[in-house]
Formats: sequence, C-alpha cells, structure tokens
Amino acid sequence: MGIIIKSEREIAIMRQAGRIVATVLNILMKQIKEGMKTKELDIIAGREVERLGGKPSFKGYRGFPANLCVSVNNEIVHGIPGERALRQGDIVSLDMGATFKGFQGDAAVTVAVGEISPQARELVATTEDVLKAGIAAARSGARLGDISATIQNYAEAKGYSVVREYTGHGIGRELHEEPQIPNFGPPGTGPELKKGMTLALEPMVNAGDWRTRVGDDQWTVFTADGSLSAHFEHTIAITDGEAEILTSLEGVYA
Ligand code: MG
Repeated sequence: MGIIIKSEREIAIMRQAGRIVATVLNILMKQIKEGMKTKELDIIAGREVERLGGKPSFKGYRGFPANLCVSVNNEIVHGIPGERALRQGDIVSLDMGATFKGFQGDAAVTVAVGEISPQARELVATTEDVLKAGIAAARSGARLGDISATIQNYAEAKGYSVVREYTGHGIGRELHEEPQIPNFGPPGTGPELKKGMTLALEPMVNAGDWRTRVGDDQWTVFTADGSLSAHFEHTIAITDGEAEILTSLEGVYA
C-alpha cells in the first residue's frame, strides 16, 4: 500500500475532522475534575463528537469498547473509561479519534487533576515539548527517522524514556495507515517526507523505564516499573514549509 499522499481537498476534510477532535478535547480539558469517573469523560466525548457532526473512531476499533482512551498516571495508552474516580494529583491522558466525511482525526493530551507534583508537571510539560519538537522535524525532504530521533533525543536528554512497543502512524481514510512512526531510532533513515502525507505523531514518555505491560482488560498499557507516563498526539499534514497541525487546539472553543 505504501504511504498515501492526500490531495488538498482530502486535507481540507481532515482539517475538519481534526477540528472536531480538538474541540472535544478542549471540552474535556475544561470539564475534567477531581471526583469525576472516567466513564463520564467518555460519555461527554461521545455526545460532543456527534453534536459536531463526527463519529467516534475508536469505538469498536479492534473491539475497543469506548469513545475515548483515558489513561491515568502509570497507564500509558488505551485505558478503558470506567468507574475509576479521578483524584487530585492524577495526570490523565485523553486520546480521541473522530471520523468526518470518511476521514480521520486523532489527538491526545495529558492533563492534570488539581495540583500535581512538580515531577508530574515536568513530565507532562516535557512530553508536550517533545511532540512540538517532533512536529518541527516533520518537514518535506526530511526522513521519517528524523522525527523519531528528534523525539527520542529530546525525551532522553531530560532523563525520561520513550515507549518502544507503540508508535505514531500514518492517518487518512484509515485510523492507522503506513508508515509506523517509532518514537526512537536513528535520523536519516526511513522514507522521505513529502507534501500531502498526513501523520499522527504521538510520543509516549515515561518517567522511568520504557518497558510496558498490558493489563488484565487486554487493552490498558502500563509502565512495567509503575512510573508515571504522559502522552501527547497531533494529526499533522506535511507541507512545503512547517507541518500543519490538523488537530490544533489553538483558537478552538467549546
Ligand atoms: Mg494515534
């Protein structure tokens, strides 16, 4: 299949899908609070994505049972929303996908519940910066490995590790398209980036070791050593200049 180049018209639709994802995340970020059950976030996400004219992409994807992935503290990704009540000091990764007119948007943020520890704050802020650095490396003419290496180097220079078993990905009509985008690896390798490629970059950064384990629900991915983990993701389009962030939260309002 290879990496699919999207037309301007297709990217325009993906911009709308991305806007829906960003709007839902913005709403969740405003509403999340201590005492809330994670399933309440899922209900809001499902309601808002439909209100905005999209469909939740994750529900039913390989059997995933919810609209939203909610991963708390030592959970990395793919947490299933449920009865867990959020507590002051938690960090919560919210990963949302929406389908609009046959195209996908996918983004994630990690947010704080009330006051969090300085260590948690540093991890979350660094992971967001890691994603920004990865996006800055995603330029026409660069290689895919340049994104991977930038992400790894940035995170490891701060004393953190990047998850190896889960990666970013191409995105378009399908939630997961080629290529896989590891968050580690050598620069100057892999396919050349070209205008019209649409990619979901998603560094998962652990305070401790990079190793993971999957929980009893067969979905939730945990840090093997129990350390905190943060996750940020954007869907981007490669252009002639800086990549365009299709799921940008800037200027998004509920
Ligand atoms: Mg993704």
